[in-house]
Amino acid sequence: MTVPRSDAFVFFGASGDLAYKKIFPALYAMARRGHLEMPVIGVARSEWTLEQFHQRAHESIEEHGSPIDEGVFRQLAGRLRYVRGEYSDASTYQAIHRELAGAKRPTHYLAIPPSVFATVVEGLGSSGCAEDARLVVEKPFGRDLASAQALNRTLHKIFDESAIFRIDHYLGKESVQNLLMFRFANTFLEPIWNQNYVESVQITMAENFGVQGRGRFYEESGAIRDVIQNHMLQVVSILAMEPPLSTYTESIRDEQVKVFRAIRPLSPEDLVRGQFRGYRQEEGVASDSTVETFAAVRLHVDSWRWDGVPFFIRAGKSLPISVTEVLVSLKRPPLRRVGPEETNHFRFRLSPEVLIALGARIKKTGEQMVSEPTELKMVHHADAEEMDAYERLLGDAMAGDATLFARQDSVEAAWAIVEPILGGATPVHEYEPGTWGPADAVRLTADAGGWHTPPP
Ligand code: NDP
Repeated sequence: MTVPRSDAFVFFGASGDLAYKKIFPALYAMARRGHLEMPVIGVARSEWTLEQFHQRAHESIEEHGSPIDEGVFRQLAGRLRYVRGEYSDASTYQAIHRELAGAKRPTHYLAIPPSVFATVVEGLGSSGCAEDARLVVEKPFGRDLASAQALNRTLHKIFDESAIFRIDHYLGKESVQNLLMFRFANTFLEPIWNQNYVESVQITMAENFGVQGRGRFYEESGAIRDVIQNHMLQVVSILAMEPPLSTYTESIRDEQVKVFRAIRPLSPEDLVRGQFRGYRQEEGVASDSTVETFAAVRLHVDSWRWDGVPFFIRAGKSLPISVTEVLVSLKRPPLRRVGPEETNHFRFRLSPEVLIALGARIKKTGEQMVSEPTELKMVHHADAEEMDAYERLLGDAMAGDATLFARQDSVEAAWAIVEPILGGATPVHEYEPGTWGPADAVRLTADAGGWHTPPP
């Protein structure tokens, strides 16, 4: 079934950091491809003229987007409108309504702090701007299960679930799309992609920087809320899901939520939390903060396919390198004479580059019949035509395709997994910046060959 495309785009928080880093560049990329033939209305409280708003867009694209073609920018600027107003004022929505100029199916994007989500959604509802409209919502979708449910109730007062698009930008990444494709486009994978052949699965999301002046924001979240509950669990769902049906558009999201439901809620013994030395001296951070800048967990996926296979996640700031990598280790072959400790594996690098490697063992040259490890590698080189996650996701939302967005049931099921370990369930261990986190994390993977260190 085809659904109608949106005919206008409204984004709240037009003066914000996300708009500057991601939204203007995504809109420009869409304009360049001829995918943005609609009015684009930015909304914020800042006192800007339309000209200043255009300037802001230009600077943002220069700094964060592809090289500017001034002709394309003029086309984009011709579509850009700016509405200045308080989010609690009815007049703001009347002004948006006027700028919508009779659009039948606008997409509204909340790129604003979550504390103002409810006010804006109500304003859209009472002004008529929400009629037949779509709503794109930025993370965080709550800070625990109860607040996520409360947020969903607020959104559902005005918007049907089918009109809500919750952004988890990981789902829009080329590398994550590649993972999905690799899993289901290759016949050789399916027979071994289960507990009979897979020993363990590890995901590392490492950043070699700290909180970069965003200490106040980070104090409200920490690694579990910031990246594990959402991005990392989304990657787990793609690795662990059953094959989706190609005849039913909700099938991928159905299979993802089934994975979340199969994951046992985390218990404190399956968690190690860390905090890099120096975090408490960051601006906006409490001097006795116990917020984790590192978390490692061991997940149990209680499904037919994965019974007994541990899924490990570790994510942290101020680690040695910036990389996101998945390692799927296979069980060792029974022929011990030629197969020492190291086993076969699949390695998926999700960032900074896209890489898929198959770790195999081959004979070491020489007299001895001994093996050595090697990797068969595919490195994907980004080109100018590649879509950034935000371009892909905003384009999909405008087209009404929700496949790559987090559905209410999966958001709530993912919160249910981490709920028991939120807050101070375990102590937070200090670690030196530039190391792989607290030493205690080693115990989680001790029976599974230890943590895999992604190569630089
Ligand atoms: P900002 O703090 O930059 O806020 C966005 C805009 O919202 C501001 O420019 C401000 O505009 C307006 N605003 C801020 N506080 C209030 C308030 N109390 N009441 C009304 N308006 C307010 O946020 P970001 O752009 O960083 O983030 C926006 C959303 O995107 C958040 O939900 C965030 O979690 C999410 N996000 C952000 C990422 C990022 O990299 N920045 C990454 C992923 C998600 P004005 O003062 O002009 O009204």
